[in-house]
Amino acid sequence: MQEFLDLRTLSVNNILVSLSFAGCLLMYSRYYPSIKGIQFVGYAFLMSSSAFLLIGLRNYIPDFFSIVIPNTLLALSMALIHLGLVLFYEFDKEALKKIHGYMLSTVLIFMLIFTYVDYNTNARIVAISIIVSIQCVFIMRTLLVAHQINQHYANLSIALSFLFFATFFAFRALFTLSEEPLQDFMSAGLMHSLSIIVYQFVVIITSFGLVWIVSHKVQKVLKEQATHDPLTKVLNRRALEEIIHNEHSRSVRSRAPLSVIMLDIDHFKRLNDRYGHNVGDKVLISVANILTKNTRAYDSIARFGGEEFILLLPDTTVEKAKFIAEKLRMKIASHSYDHQSRSKVEITASFGATECDLANESWLNVLERADSALYLAKEAGRNRVIVFNSDNQGAESISTG
Ligand code: GH3
Ligand code: MG
Ligand code: MG
Repeated sequence: MQEFLDLRTLSVNNILVSLSFAGCLLMYSRYYPSIKGIQFVGYAFLMSSSAFLLIGLRNYIPDFFSIVIPNTLLALSMALIHLGLVLFYEFDKEALKKIHGYMLSTVLIFMLIFTYVDYNTNARIVAISIIVSIQCVFIMRTLLVAHQINQHYANLSIALSFLFFATFFAFRALFTLSEEPLQDFMSAGLMHSLSIIVYQFVVIITSFGLVWIVSHKVQKVLKEQATHDPLTKVLNRRALEEIIHNEHSRSVRSRAPLSVIMLDIDHFKRLNDRYGHNVGDKVLISVANILTKNTRAYDSIARFGGEEFILLLPDTTVEKAKFIAEKLRMKIASHSYDHQSRSKVEITASFGATECDLANESWLNVLERADSALYLAKEAGRNRVIVFNSDNQGAESISTG
């Protein structure tokens, strides 16, 4: 019997590794129930630890339990890893059933034939190695597609570990074909011991990779929550204040103009009272969408208060800001707001616009001036744009709807 890296000790080791990582992934999936698929990878590792337990008991229990079942469980664990990854990346899982259904039935049939019809250890090793290798290729394909959509080192790391797994198992199949007939799998030699170590390597890399991707996802969600308004998805006030600071410094450096538009929906309280808060919320979302669609990618849009928005426009003079505000005013007034009631919901907004005097004033001044212009637009009858120049502090133009 091989004393170095013997199969029985490695099996026990693999049970411990697979069980620990299965436990971690199952707890992790309970902690983040909204992230799908991780629990299936955990189940896969539970399957494989059961498979290695049965393999470790070879020669002590009937062949059916130490050969047929564990090999089928190994192929099933690969299918579950694939299912977990497909759910994790939110891909279509339909094709999986067919692929792994064929693989599992093939393993089962081969194991039954080469155990009960023609007892042949080499043939069994070749069969399970080829099938696991094919399953790895399918898993790798899923990971590479995921990497194309969402570039992350963890996708590549897991894909590489499966590439290594697939290559090793294909090589093991070839090696076993040319080997002398094996009498007892438990004394099959180094190549077969290494296959258990390679499996452990994949368990570890896959678990770490998934946890890494989840942390990255959670971090992204937290950042989004910290900087964006949950209802309208535009920036929140805090995020805008940070951006304002940076944009102001950039404009001072590059001597590029910087303008601000402040807008407030007219008689929004009346709209809420008449149609309900839900309709009010939908109107807020529609207005935010209109603002996003009709401005440039490098303009910043934030919800500043209840129904008040602010736009920060880099490289924009006050004349251009007036033109943009006027365009937005018309878009908001002419938009058809979808709601259940039969009477038409009329929405208008009032605008105050101004340009920053970069060298001589603080941001607070600029915002106060935009707010004063907006106040004047309300006073003058709403649904209009008022522009304040930085030098004269006066209303430069009034446009009405
Ligand atoms: P004005 O034309 O002078 O701006 O009148 P207004 O009614 O729009 O202004 P006012 O400030 O009196 O009312 C703002 C209303 O916005 C009051 C508040 O109930 C509503 N509001 C604030 N936040 C939300 C929200 O998240 N959803 C909804 N549906 N309503 C909100
Ligand atoms: Mg209002
Ligand atoms: Mg308001």
